Amino acid sequence: MAGLTHLLHGCVPSWHPSVQTERNYVPEEALKRHLDERRVPYRSIAGAADGDVLTIDDSTCGAARACRLARAAGHEVTLFVNPAQIDRRRTYWFSRFDVIMDQRRAGSAVFDGREFELRPGRALRAFRLAVKARLMPLPEEATDDLLDEVAGLLRPASEAVPEHARTMTVDDLRDLVARDVRIGSHGWDHRDIAAMTEAELVADLRGAQEWFHDRLGSRPEHYAVPYGLAPLTGRAAREVPGRILLAHAGLADGFLGDRQWNRRDLTTPLQAGHG
Ligand SMILES: [Zn+2]
Repeated sequence: MAGLTHLLHGCVPSWHPSVQTERNYVPEEALKRHLDERRVPYRSIAGAADGDVLTIDDSTCGAARACRLARAAGHEVTLFVNPAQIDRRRTYWFSRFDVIMDQRRAGSAVFDGREFELRPGRALRAFRLAVKARLMPLPEEATDDLLDEVAGLLRPASEAVPEHARTMTVDDLRDLVARDVRIGSHGWDHRDIAAMTEAELVADLRGAQEWFHDRLGSRPEHYAVPYGLAPLTGRAAREVPGRILLAHAGLADGFLGDRQWNRRDLTTPLQAGHG
C-alpha cells in the first residue's frame, strides 16, 4: 500500500509559538526526534509504494537545514524550490511580511478600508489573511509596493529577516544536491496558480525547468503547487512529467487522481510536540 507524503517548510534552532517568522517552521529538536524515531526511513517519491515520503517546500535557509538533517539521519527527502527568489537573491514576500508583523510598533491598522486590531491571536491572524490574499496572486517583484504600504502602517522596529527565513543561494542548493537531496519544482515564482492564465502558468513552469537544467544539469520530475490549494490541470499539467503535489487540509491524504497527490502537513504536530 502506498504511504503518505509528508510536508514541512523547514526548521529553526529554537522555536517560539507566537513568532510570525517561525509560524511555518518546526523546532529542530522535534524534527530530529521525529526522524530518529521512524522505524522505516522516508523513501524517495520513486519508492513511495514502499513507505512514506518527506517533502520540504520553499527556497529558504530553514528548508535547507531541514533537508540536511533528514539526509544526516538516513532519510530520502525532496525539496521543492522556486528559482525566482534564488536567482534574484530576493526574500519571499511572506518572510518580509512576517518580520514586519513581528517587529510592529502599531497597535492597529486600516488596510483595504477595514480597521484591524493587531493583538496576537485571532485579530492578528485576520490582518495577516487580508494582506496575504492581496499578495498571493502577485509576481514576487510586484510585492514590494504592497509590503512598503504595510510597513508604513505597522512601523516595524527592524526589517532584518532571520536566517531561517532568508533565501538560500545557488551554492546552498548545489550543496543539497551533493547530499542527495532530490530537487522538485515549486514553479518559477511563488504565485497562486489560480490567479494565473494557462499561458502564464506554462511559461512559469517552463522557466523553472530551464533554470534547473542550466544551474543543476537536470530537470525536476515532480512539482508542488505554491500554497498547495489549486489543482494543476489541462495544458499546464502536461508540463509536469511526474507527480503534482498539493497541500490541502480539506482533501484526503494521498492519491487524488490525475497525477495529483495531497500531502499531510507535519508542521503543527511537530510544533505541538515541542515541550
Ligand atoms: Zn511554498
